[in-house]
Amino acid sequence: MTFLDSHDIVGLAATPDGRRVTGARVLHRAGSAEQVLGADLVVDATGRGSRTPVRLEVLGYPRPVKEQVRIGLSYATRTYRLPPDALDGDLAVLQTATSEHPRSGVLLRLEGDRWMVTLAGRLGDHPPTDPDGFLAFARSLRFPDIYQAVRDAEPLDDPVGFRFPVSVRHRYERLDRFPDGLLVLGDAVCSFNPVYGQGMTVAALEALSLRRHLQHGTRPQPHRFFADLARVVDVPWDIAVGGDLAFPGVQGRRTPKVRLINAYLARLHAAATHDASLAGAFLRVAGLVAPPQSLLHPGVAVRVLWGSLHPATASTVVSSNRDAVQAAPSLVDSGDMSP
Ligand SMILES: Cc1cc2nc3c(=O)[nH]c(=O)nc-3n(C[C@H](O)[C@H](O)[C@H](O)COP(=O)(O)OP(=O)(O)OC[C@H]3O[C@@H](n4cnc5c(N)ncnc54)[C@H](O)[C@@H]3O)c2cc1C
Repeated sequence: MTFLDSHDIVGLAATPDGRRVTGARVLHRAGSAEQVLGADLVVDATGRGSRTPVRLEVLGYPRPVKEQVRIGLSYATRTYRLPPDALDGDLAVLQTATSEHPRSGVLLRLEGDRWMVTLAGRLGDHPPTDPDGFLAFARSLRFPDIYQAVRDAEPLDDPVGFRFPVSVRHRYERLDRFPDGLLVLGDAVCSFNPVYGQGMTVAALEALSLRRHLQHGTRPQPHRFFADLARVVDVPWDIAVGGDLAFPGVQGRRTPKVRLINAYLARLHAAATHDASLAGAFLRVAGLVAPPQSLLHPGVAVRVLWGSLHPATASTVVSSNRDAVQAAPSLVDSGDMSP
């Protein structure tokens, strides 16, 4: 196997009729002449900025339909020095966004005595990256835990901002024509709002799908491959888009199904604040280790109904959230809990 470091892929090589991709055109960043890397199969894993839609057009194919959901997400992140027991042994505080409180934040223990705070806003609400503004944003969160933990702590760096304007899904599976010898996967196919923490899991599941398609020893058939990828992407895309559409300012079609699911999930989230098993059930679905239908199981639905009729008090919220994290340790270990 050969790895070409410091090279950029600048195009595809194909047969004169464009029916088969035969390699990738690469360029060394130091500025040498372009070279063609011949390949039986080219897999575009260049992420969100993938140029495959444009390159398909150059080869005489239509671009895939592009679905977008604009969320205008902004992060700001800063690390602090705090004692390891700053949260009484807990590893994280996670405050997720709701339509009423669209600001969110997470405080996470890192190695040693370092802790990371990430604050997030939506639809143009940018957490400031100046120290005072950053703290003020932390203070504005619905619950005081994160602000109280860091307000007098020693910061180890300056806040750093990051913006994610829009989730994008390219519908390669709907194309009638596609060249042989080329596949696309990962963020190049679908780039999710990162708050749901799904992208790496989905990319890994897609890599497993690629392995299955390669097992026959022949070049994978693009239509079948993209149909399999669509099955991998459908559920996490529905979770992310459905979640984003719960915010009134996000544009998109709110089908009766989306409205019903969001109404149910709002009740589930409320009930989960004092029911660890519900919180664990939700985290398993969000972490893609359980199917969404598991949240409609009668045993879960009854707890949701019961919980929404008996709202939590502040103290039960704290203790049962701790139980929920313990109930879903694999999700915490893998870090699948973005703000
Ligand atoms: C802020 C943030 C937080 C996230 N949190 C999580 C999380 O908690 N859990 C989770 O599962 N996912 C998370 N994700 C999503 C996850 O990072 C992506 O889904 C995942 O990295 C996609 O992998 P990929 O290999 O498809 O693309 P990428 O990781 O983007 O890799 C693409 C690679 O291709 C290279 N490349 C691009 N163009 C060229 C070119 N022309 N020539 C050569 N090389 C090129 C790039 O340099 C890059 O190395 C998060 C994303 C963001 C932005």
